[in-house]
Amino acid sequence: MRCQHCKKQAILKSPRLCEDHFVEYFERKIGKFLEKYKIKNKKLLVAISGGKDSVVVSYVLSKLKEKFNLQIEYFFIRLGIPTFTEKSEEIATRVTESINYPLTIYDLKKEEGFTIMDVKYKPCSYCGMIRRYILNKYAFENDFDYVVLGHNLDDEVFFIFNNMFNKNITQLQRTGPLTQTIKEKKLVGRIKPLYFLTEEEILLYAKLKNLPHIGCACPNSLESTQKKFKKDIKFSRDQKLNIVYSILEMKKYLPEEKVELKFCEKCGYPTTSDTCKFCRTKEKILSTL
Ligand code: SF4
Ligand code: ZN
Ligand code: ZN
Repeated sequence: MRCQHCKKQAILKSPRLCEDHFVEYFERKIGKFLEKYKIKNKKLLVAISGGKDSVVVSYVLSKLKEKFNLQIEYFFIRLGIPTFTEKSEEIATRVTESINYPLTIYDLKKEEGFTIMDVKYKPCSYCGMIRRYILNKYAFENDFDYVVLGHNLDDEVFFIFNNMFNKNITQLQRTGPLTQTIKEKKLVGRIKPLYFLTEEEILLYAKLKNLPHIGCACPNSLESTQKKFKKDIKFSRDQKLNIVYSILEMKKYLPEEKVELKFCEKCGYPTTSDTCKFCRTKEKILSTL
């Protein structure tokens, strides 16, 4: 199998590219993302977890920083998951040191008084919400334009199907590569530069660039629905892209989420009820310790 641009051996079937052309294609795709969504002269907070996606996005953004005049800070949340957190932190530190960037470490136990291990029921569903809350708060308080997430095409396809399986049609409005910052609502926008790249492409790029990433999965993820979905349902790269393009196109016909945002009476951050989910969860966890 030959590369579609030159005569060298292709290392990937779709797109059919050799090593050099693949690296060029991968980085160009992220550059195009930044151009398309006008991520120029911006201050970005990159959430680095030590997983392949966040490591790859951290690395590529550091290469594109000058071209797009980006101010970047990396942010790691110490969740307190034995072994997993230590290994992840070691990788996040190693990667940011190698690209010469500051890494801010947010210790959940020290700052909030609990760890993810103190969440006894469905830790993953709370972990996501807790991380989103902390990232948004830190980014807002430190004047960042966007939070950068490592979500990839496979994650997005799972999100779409999971919501369809559960008839959460309005949630589909939340799909997309970017959300805008709304300062008066204390909401910092989020961008997902790997949105149009598959897990296979990301893993390959990490391998070619020798980027370290956490190999062992978080112990809480063993039975996750997402893992099962990715194992059971196989789509080609083109099918995955068509699924997200179709949803992005369909979004304008989908019902809007009717939520009225107010500010949490405890922390002052946006919520739909009097007290936000983070504050309610924190209070509940602390009462069990
Ligand atoms: Fe958090 Fe679950 Fe991911 Fe572990 S698997 S880091 S608990 S979301
Ligand atoms: Zn080639
Ligand atoms: Zn709150």
